[in-house]
Amino acid sequence: MSDPSLRKGVSVLVSDRRIAWLRPTSDEPALPANVRIIDAGGSTIVPGMVDAHSHVTLPGGSHWIDRGADPPEELLEVAEHNGDLLGRAGVRWARDVGSPLAIDPRDGRRRALALRVRERWQSDLDRPRIRVAGTWIGHSGVLTGGLAIEADAGPALLKAASTQLDNGADFLKLYLDGPKKEEAPWSTEDVRAVVELAHRRGAKVTAHSGFLVGARVGIDAGVDSLEHGFELDSDAVAKMARQETFLVSTLAIFRSWASFAQTTTLPRFTSGEGKERIARRTERAIESVQLAHRAGVRIATGTDFGGGSLRANHLAWEIESLVEAGLKPWEALTSATVRGGELLGEPEAGRIVEGGPADFFLVHGDPLSDPTALWRIWRVAWLPESHVT
Ligand SMILES: [Zn+2]
Repeated sequence: MSDPSLRKGVSVLVSDRRIAWLRPTSDEPALPANVRIIDAGGSTIVPGMVDAHSHVTLPGGSHWIDRGADPPEELLEVAEHNGDLLGRAGVRWARDVGSPLAIDPRDGRRRALALRVRERWQSDLDRPRIRVAGTWIGHSGVLTGGLAIEADAGPALLKAASTQLDNGADFLKLYLDGPKKEEAPWSTEDVRAVVELAHRRGAKVTAHSGFLVGARVGIDAGVDSLEHGFELDSDAVAKMARQETFLVSTLAIFRSWASFAQTTTLPRFTSGEGKERIARRTERAIESVQLAHRAGVRIATGTDFGGGSLRANHLAWEIESLVEAGLKPWEALTSATVRGGELLGEPEAGRIVEGGPADFFLVHGDPLSDPTALWRIWRVAWLPESHVT
């Protein structure tokens, strides 16, 4: 495929939050009498992006893990702030891949907090559209602070999976790093049983994957996507490409950690040993994305904000990281738009088409060749101050 280039001299008419038409400015039909004209000269229209790996109830920053233990009411406030940040950064969709459990005061049941955020935002057209994985399902001794539902063997794993779906999760998130780095937490058969259960109920399964041994189990078990994929090899990516397993890249985490060497006093980031460890993991993670990209794996992408150290308005950083890993800028933008929509099963996400939602934003510069253009946002079409009718 040849590289796409910008279409210049384009006009767009928005009506009732949909794109009524999109055509050359030289060929505009008569405009409706009450139309409000916005001179967007010199700016570029970009489809609303999809942050395919996010944690809307958590704030991120260098103490991101501690923040998971904050009181639920505070985390719901955090989610509202994140909603603002996402929108202003041009992110229309967020795929939430894990939130803490909290007692829902309405029925006294303990369930993932992001489910409540999804309900709050459903009826508010200005808010990000979100899909929610519930909480993390992990082996005991892996995720600290009581964040995960713990399941150590097949039956418990299946029970955890159906509880999440009963609670309203849109998809499932398995944590495929085990208590021992060199061992996967579950057998391929156990994970496959979860995948079959979820698919029967119309839900997808994704898996956190920090190490190769867990990635292999997830791929062999037929999970729909791997998150991070920090340690992939050529066999793993070949199989992912064959069976159309998505990779959700989260490379900007390492840029964020490298910045903490300058901005924090935390030894894991500032010590020689810490820096070396981060540099090694960065190199391996970039190599994994390169392997996947060359093998033709479909790559969606996300910030991991909240569940990692990035903030909710940092998706452009991830796109820059993908470009550093060897994707062309337009390919990286595709990961943050159309691919994310495919992963979500939302065909309208990340696209600008006549008749489709007016989910676009305006930047200065050409993001097809320069990812830094995505930081220079001028207007976001779906937010109130720029709502055109
Ligand atoms: Zn995460």
